[in-house]
Amino acid sequence: MSDTSKIEIRALRKSFGSNEVLKNISLDVAKGGVVALIGPSGSGKSTLLRCVNLLVTPDGGSVRVGDTRFQFGEGAKLPDVKTLARFRATTGMVFQHFNLFPHMTTLQNVMEGPVTVRRMARADAEKLARAQLAKVGLAEKADQYPATLSGGQKQRVAIARALAMEPDVMLFDEATSALDPELVGEVLAVMQRLASEGMTMVIVTHEIAFAREVADRLIFMRDGVVVEEGPARQVIDNPQEAATRAFLSHFH
Ligand code: ADP
Ligand code: MG
Repeated sequence: MSDTSKIEIRALRKSFGSNEVLKNISLDVAKGGVVALIGPSGSGKSTLLRCVNLLVTPDGGSVRVGDTRFQFGEGAKLPDVKTLARFRATTGMVFQHFNLFPHMTTLQNVMEGPVTVRRMARADAEKLARAQLAKVGLAEKADQYPATLSGGQKQRVAIARALAMEPDVMLFDEATSALDPELVGEVLAVMQRLASEGMTMVIVTHEIAFAREVADRLIFMRDGVVVEEGPARQVIDNPQEAATRAFLSHFH
């Protein structure tokens, strides 16, 4: 699989103080693949996602996205700030809370990364930003401020902002968990379209039906270990581990 995998995590370890949060995690995401990551609160899902784009520095193991590989642990040299910034720009991350800049319009929010990180000319960045806003169905909201948008619209702007960095992979950390139920669908629809267009994605979610529909692989984590992994439908419809069954039973 490693020939075609876009993301390759090997023997990843992370502790916060004496709290061992990730215990020897390995996973692959195929190019164009969609992996759903599920598990109870506190099992290490967010930490794992943050290790993939190095918002959190692992204690050991390796992270590879595309051709860029980082090794951590004993004797490994930590990447410098510039390398980290360049790497993060290739891994788009969408959080539960949208973190839009309130004093900037929707368009300015989406242009900010291309202008400041990618050093694009403003005219080019604007063109790109408008295209990404159109892609999430918000072309007509370009000049509005975040405060005037619904939660679902804000999250779609956050997705457009990540896409404006033209990332190799997209990481979603409970992107719909903070939304009112009636606004979840519009964000999932954008995610589903991205997946169908071939974006490589890792999705932390409690939307089991969505995971079953959109993800090709599913990983169930608990207490910092991968308990079960396989084709999403297979794991959801026919979980092999008691812990997976117990977790999934909360969603029926
Ligand atoms: P999940 O996303 O599955 O709910 P997290 O990765 O957020 O799990 O958290 C896993 C564990 O790591 C929890 O015990 C949490 O308290 C701890 N943790 C996460 N981030 C930090 C941090 N920055 N500092 C200290 N502890 C943390
Ligand atoms: Mg989390």
